[in-house]
This record gives sequence, structure tokens and C-alpha cells, in this order.
Amino acid sequence: MLRVLILGGTTEASALAEALHGDDRFAPTLSFAGVTRAPVLPRIATRIGGFGGADGLAGWLRETGTHALIDATHPFAQRISRNAVAACAAAGVALLRVARPEWRPVPGDRWTVTPDMAAAAAALGPGGRRVLLTIGRQDLAAFLPHPQHAYLVRSVDLPPAALLPPGCRLVTARGPFALEDELSLLSRHAIEAIVSKNSGGDATRAKLDAARRLGIEVVMVARPEPVPAPHVAGWREALGWLEDRHQALPTRRSV
Ligand code: NAP
Repeated sequence: MLRVLILGGTTEASALAEALHGDDRFAPTLSFAGVTRAPVLPRIATRIGGFGGADGLAGWLRETGTHALIDATHPFAQRISRNAVAACAAAGVALLRVARPEWRPVPGDRWTVTPDMAAAAAALGPGGRRVLLTIGRQDLAAFLPHPQHAYLVRSVDLPPAALLPPGCRLVTARGPFALEDELSLLSRHAIEAIVSKNSGGDATRAKLDAARRLGIEVVMVARPEPVPAPHVAGWREALGWLEDRHQALPTRRSV
């Protein structure tokens, strides 16, 4: 049996966990950082919370006799991905990263691409605008120096008040989001600009389609440098890779 750790917090990780459920070739565990108050739990074993850095993760891999690690964390979650590279090297565990393709602009898009969140906040300009922030909770502080805008913040859980620009409005929602709902949200709040990370994937793509249709600018924060690890684009390819690893298990005997 192949013991697998999936680093999660994404739809890909949950889909892979679901695919492994009930498959007796695998003993999978899905790990969450613990940042979402009520994560959607899969039917496989889960653990919640940090490992204590790369050394802690390497220790966990050794203690559990894990054979393979699938890093299916979000493209902007750089620390855990770097830790996974270091820990797998130290513990002799096979590593595969699920790196969903990034979004690319298509004709009709009005994108302003920025290298980070501070640049995205500055790119909104000096005049007050009605801005939808769809960046999660962690990076909201970048907008505190720009209180001239009227912000609508969408996140899974309510952000801490200290991170919020004055007067901003909040909407809590968990994707996937449908195009009709995104069109309605943008129109209802008369949104003039959206700030987004280039997360890629289908679950939150509809806001980009809605922005294109309504002629709304998207300030798109580019991805950080990917970690140096073998990668695939989706969870199905990761499943195939795990099946190959299972075939190659040294303890496997034919009877
Ligand atoms: P990060 O900066 O790379 O990680 C911060 C620390 O959180 C890590 O050092 C690790 O703690 C712990 N951690 C992160 N992911 C973990 C996991 N799956 N299981 C156990 N511990 C984990 O990550 P982040 O940007 O804060 O994101 C946290 C989680 O939210 C990730 O799992 C990511 O997939 C998910 N997420 C992030 C974003 C985003 O925009 N960043 C968006 C959607 C979902 P230790 O060092 O103590 O092990």
C-alpha cells in the first residue's frame, strides 16, 4: 500500500482525495493549514495545522513511513511548497506538484498585471473607485494605504477587522462561482475594478469572464516563481503518477 500525503487547501487536492477514497492500493492523508474555519473535509484521513517548517514536515514523513507527497497547495502558497521540496529531499520521499495553469488574457480583457499585492493596490490609481477584492484575507493590508477607494471584499471567512480599509463592505462566499452570479454581483455593486491573484483554475474564473463582458478592469497579481519540483497540471495526472509509484513499490509481490 502506497502511503501518500496530499498538501491541500485547493479544489485539486480535494478532488484527488476523493479519487483515492476506497482505493486499497493507497493510504492517503489530506493536510490542511487550518486557515479556513470550516474546511470541506474529504472521506479520507485528514490532519489540520502546520508541521513546524521543513524539518517538522520531514519528521512527519519519516514517522508515518510516507512514500509520496503530492503538493496540491495554492500557487501563491510558496512557503509550504518550498518546505515540501526540502522535506522530501531530506526524507527521501517522492514529490509531485500539482500546478494548475495560470490564466491568460484573451481579446476583450482589460488586465493590468502587477508583480505583487502592493503594486496592485497602487495600480488602482489616486482617484476613488469601486473595487472588488477577490484575493483572500491574508493580503488585505496592502490596501490600507489606499483608503480613497470603496472596497467590496469577498472571502471564504470574515477577515480580521484590523486588515480592512475603512468603510469597506464584506461578502463571504466559497467558490465555485457561476458567471450569472458574478455578473449580478459586479452590476449590483457598480464595480469598476477587480483585484485578483493569478490563481488559475475553473472555480473562480467566472469573475474574469464577467469583467470582460462588462468592460471592467482586472488588476491581476502575477504568480510568484514556481518551486523547483516535478509538476503536472491537474489532479488526474497526479493520480496516474501515484498509480505508477504503486506499481513500483518494492514490497509488491505477485502471488
Ligand atoms: P504558505 O504561506 O505557503 O504557508 C504558511 C504555513 O502554513 C506553512 O509554512 C505551513 O506551516 C502551513 N501550511 C500551509 N499549507 C499547509 C497544508 N496544506 N498543510 C499543513 N500546513 C500547511 O501558505 P498560505 O499562502 O498561508 O496558504 C495556506 C493554505 O491555504 C495553503 O494550504 C493553501 O493551499 C491554501 N490557499 C492559499 C491561498 C493563497 O492565496 N495563498 C488561496 C487558496 C488556498 P509549517 O511551516 O508550520 O508547516
